[in-house]
Amino acid sequence: VKTLGVKFADIVGQERLKHWFINVLKSQSLGHAYAFCAEEGMGKSFLSHVFSKMLLCEACQNLEMYDRDDSKETLFMEVCDVCQHCKTFDGEAHPDFYRLKREKASIGVDDVRRLKEHIHIKPMYAKHKIFLIPESELMTPQAQNALLKTIEDPPPHVLFFLLTTQFQTYLPTIQSRVVKLDLEKYSPNEISAFLKSRDGKLLQMEWITKISDGNLGMALKMVEDAHFLEMREAVFAHVVALFEKKEGEDMALFSYLDKNKEWIGTILNMFALFFRDLLALQYDNWENILINVDKKDIMISRKKMVSPNQLLHWLDQTEKVKLGLSMNVGFGLSVEYWIISLFR
Ligand SMILES: [Zn+2]
Repeated sequence: VKTLGVKFADIVGQERLKHWFINVLKSQSLGHAYAFCAEEGMGKSFLSHVFSKMLLCEACQNLEMYDRDDSKETLFMEVCDVCQHCKTFDGEAHPDFYRLKREKASIGVDDVRRLKEHIHIKPMYAKHKIFLIPESELMTPQAQNALLKTIEDPPPHVLFFLLTTQFQTYLPTIQSRVVKLDLEKYSPNEISAFLKSRDGKLLQMEWITKISDGNLGMALKMVEDAHFLEMREAVFAHVVALFEKKEGEDMALFSYLDKNKEWIGTILNMFALFFRDLLALQYDNWENILINVDKKDIMISRKKMVSPNQLLHWLDQTEKVKLGLSMNVGFGLSVEYWIISLFR
C-alpha cells in the first residue's frame, strides 16, 4: 500500500470516515479496536494505512489541523513524509506497526499468537503500537478466541485495525468489542474525478463509472485491465450478432464462453447490461439512463430489430443461468440451455 506523497485532503470520497478520524484525533478519544468493513476494492487497506501513518508521524503529534477552504467544517492534518516514522512506515519497517501476514488459507491461532508476542512490548518510538489484520474475515473461531482477551483488555498503547469484507463472520464477543467503521459507496462524481486524474478516454470512463456501482477499486481495475475492455468489446459483438440472427452465432457464442469460463459471471453481467440498455432504448427519453453510453449509436440503429418482450425474455434467461451457475449446475449444460433460449 503506497502512502508516500498522499495528501489526506486529496483523498477521494469517504468523507464521513475521514471526518470521524479527524474528530477522534482532535478530541483524543481514540479507542482500541476498529473494524473497517466493506467489499473488496473499496479502500479499506489504503485508508487504514493512511490513518496508521498519521498516528505515527512526528508532524501529526502536535495535532496541528488546517482548514483548506475556510469552511470551518473540513479540517485536515498531513503527514510530513520526511520524519523517521514516515520513512520507516513507507519502507514497511516501522517497529510499532505490525501487519499480520497469514501463512495458510485462513488466519489461525498460530498467526494470532505471533501477533500477540509483540503486544506487551511497549512501542519503541511512537505513542501507539498498531496491529493491522487484513482479511480478518478469514480468522478461524479459535483464532478469534485467541485474539479476544487482548481486545477485551489491551495494554493502553495498543490499537487494532481489523479489515473485513464480512463483519457478521466475527464471533458475537468480537463484534461487541470492536467499533464498526463502514466505508461508503463512492458517488459517480467521486469515481469520475478519480479516474480523470488517472487519464483515460472520457466516454469509456462514463460507462465504467456506472458499471462499477460505487466501487472505486473495481472501476480502477476496469480502466487498467486491458482484458476486461477486450471482453466487453467481444460481448458487444456477440450481442449485435444475436440481434442480426447471424448464421452460426450460437456455436460461436458457446465456444467464446467455453474459452472464457473463469470470467463467466462478468460476461453474463455484461450481456445483461447490454440487454437492459437496449430495453431502455425502446422507450422515449430513457437515453439518459444508459450504462453503455459509448455504444449508444450502434444500439439505437439496431433497436427496432428486436421487441421489448424479446429483451425481457433474454434478461430473464440471463438471470436464470447466473442463478444456476451459482448453484453449481454444470457449466456446459447451463450455458447451452441459455444459448438455446436466446435463439428461441
Ligand atoms: Zn512524518
